[in-house]
Amino acid sequence: MKPSYYNLTAPAGDGGAVLFNTRSGCMAQLDREHYEAFQTFEANGKEPADEEFREGLLACGFAVKDRENELEAIRLGLLRSRFATETLSLAIALTQDCNFRCVYCYEKDQLRRQVLDGKAIGLLNDCKVTKAQVTLDGSRASHDSRRPLKGGGGSFDAILRNLKLCKDRYKGGIALRMNVDRNNLSEISEVKALLKEEGLDKTVILYLGHVTDENGTCAEGSCLGGCEFTRKNLEFLLDQEDGGERFRNGVPRPITNCCGPGSTATGTARG
Ligand code: SF4
Repeated sequence: MKPSYYNLTAPAGDGGAVLFNTRSGCMAQLDREHYEAFQTFEANGKEPADEEFREGLLACGFAVKDRENELEAIRLGLLRSRFATETLSLAIALTQDCNFRCVYCYEKDQLRRQVLDGKAIGLLNDCKVTKAQVTLDGSRASHDSRRPLKGGGGSFDAILRNLKLCKDRYKGGIALRMNVDRNNLSEISEVKALLKEEGLDKTVILYLGHVTDENGTCAEGSCLGGCEFTRKNLEFLLDQEDGGERFRNGVPRPITNCCGPGSTATGTARG
């Protein structure tokens, strides 16, 4: 057997380490003895003497059979997912005329409209849409200044009103995205408290979005770096009542197809 090309290691006290394999998604904690054996295996291919450990490495994908070509296996998985017929994914761009003018918008002149009111909720239910996403970027003042409507004015109150409407009428789940950068990072707890106060904390799942510098969207270095955001997101996930259990997306996982249009039927309002 040989080490996987996709192993990551991080020291974890007492000379041990945490291993993560980005291809299999396996994570394991090794004590000093096993970590040393693993380091030797990675450095010169000398297989660990402990048979159970060797089998574990293979089962978790930290090691692969000598004849296995991991890159080809990934390519095959990608092709298979692209032509799979078990499920149908549809991405429908209803309009490119967005009614917001968010300060960090990366779409620039290719905008989308986002509306979730009573009429839309009925439509979502009729069409059996099981998930919807809404964005709220902090307190009223903060949200309305970051995400003004095209014609001016804010949307905070309308969003809160519609979330309450969804609680009673929408049959699917609502994911509430809070796009964070340095300007609104301190307001995460405020949004959590608001959801609790309004009785929405059980029906709405809050998660953090990372505002990144696409098309020069970061005004005066306001964006968080990748590590900064990851640390903040981890804190946020661990601070959940269930220790982050329901946020499976918070943990890195292998995906066979990272590009939606590769396996999704995509259409605009005109077809
Ligand atoms: S970021 Fe804001 S302005 Fe840009 S497409 Fe999304 S809702 Fe519209």
